[in-house]
Amino acid sequence: MADQTVDILIIGAGPSGTVAAAAANQRGFKVKIVEKQRFPRFIIGESLLPKCMEHFEEVGLLEVLKAQNYQIKRGVRFLRDDKICWFNFSEQYSPSWTWTWQVPRAHFDHVLADEVRRMGVDVSFENEVIDVAIQDGISTSKIRRKDGSTYEIEARYIIDASGYGRVLPRLFGLNRENGAPPRKAVFGHFTDSARPQGPDGHQITFVIHRKDVWIWVIPFSNGDASVGFVGDPTYLESFHDVDANVHLSKLMDDVPYVANRFANEKVRLEAKSIKAYTVSTTQTFGEGYVISGNSSEFIDPVFSSGVTFATESGLRAAKLVCRALNGENVDWATDYEQHMKQGVDTFRTYVEQWYEGDLQDIFFFSNEDANQKIKKQICSVLAGNVWDMSNPFVGPKRERALMSVSKIIKLY
Ligand SMILES: Cc1cc2nc3c(=O)[nH]c(=O)nc-3n(C[C@H](O)[C@H](O)[C@H](O)COP(=O)(O)OP(=O)(O)OC[C@H]3O[C@@H](n4cnc5c(N)ncnc54)[C@H](O)[C@@H]3O)c2cc1C
Repeated sequence: MADQTVDILIIGAGPSGTVAAAAANQRGFKVKIVEKQRFPRFIIGESLLPKCMEHFEEVGLLEVLKAQNYQIKRGVRFLRDDKICWFNFSEQYSPSWTWTWQVPRAHFDHVLADEVRRMGVDVSFENEVIDVAIQDGISTSKIRRKDGSTYEIEARYIIDASGYGRVLPRLFGLNRENGAPPRKAVFGHFTDSARPQGPDGHQITFVIHRKDVWIWVIPFSNGDASVGFVGDPTYLESFHDVDANVHLSKLMDDVPYVANRFANEKVRLEAKSIKAYTVSTTQTFGEGYVISGNSSEFIDPVFSSGVTFATESGLRAAKLVCRALNGENVDWATDYEQHMKQGVDTFRTYVEQWYEGDLQDIFFFSNEDANQKIKKQICSVLAGNVWDMSNPFVGPKRERALMSVSKIIKLY
């Protein structure tokens, strides 16, 4: 006999878990989130996409987020040498939200977790799922508290939203290499007192340093900014120092835009690094469980898609779980796995082309395109609208569409 019984057990209180919890709670199910850490806790992933606003709105989490006055993100700016390319989310092909936020995730995730708690979801922090057994669709999970004591939860369904913890892929042997070359990221938070006035200073900037090394600058509404270097580990490690802050500052000194903007700024969050963050799973669902967010797949930070995939999959997983618990037949392969694969594979195409260098050329070329049609279509991808199959840069012919533009550029 388990110590607790719930309809749905959610592993992890990141955005995937809290959006899933809010959706299942709305539908009247008894939901519990078990979260390993104490919140607020740091996590990377600070620039959102307009698409995720739909998810927060649908599950009733939008208003509490609006009240936090996070930095509004209306577009994306790319810098390469002396060239600038802006994508403005109000100029899109697909119907879409035209803005989103840039958020310090420790605060953002804490707000979401508090709000789902207020809605009635049971959230247990510093409780780690250490084992899961599923029999006839009913799961029994072993949970370890911070003091080392353990207890068991029985659930009719599990949503694994454990992010980099990857609880079910690990326990059930579902981890899969996805073949992407190893990349690394080094990042930290700084005061940003010399930020330029207006959108140049408030909106996210991507600095293209080399074809395979880029930098994010993500300004927050509290006056700080996140700065991160991503790409070829050999390059990043060539600036190595045993002190992580010195390592990051040496990298920053090598990039004039970043060096100038942050020359006299103070460290607000110790530098950190992460590598081998690209992950995948052999399957995302099975009897009595579904895997969402980063626990199922993460490709690359370059287009800020992680949180949006986390909320898209968390919401979808929760809705399908509720239908299954109501006795409906659910086609998990089509309605969950295929759906998520469409979105992930679209971004995968863009990530691959980005590191090839072709996409960067296309971005700057589309900026000068007289009728802006291509730019609007690409902008919709950057806003996370990767399920609008009428967009030629999203559908099955997206690679061909990108290659055609690439060929035109080479003729110039
Ligand atoms: C360098 C880098 C930069 C990035 N930048 C961006 C960006 O700008 N924008 C963006 O959208 N995304 C970005 N991402 C991706 C982003 O970090 C993730 O996609 C996002 O946090 C996934 O959300 P999630 O809810 O799936 O998981 P998480 O946010 O990781 O939450 C999972 C939670 O599960 C908990 N957990 C883990 N194991 C257990 C366990 N055994 N028991 C209980 N709880 C457990 C964890 O403590 C954690 O709180 C970036 C990623 C990297 C590597």
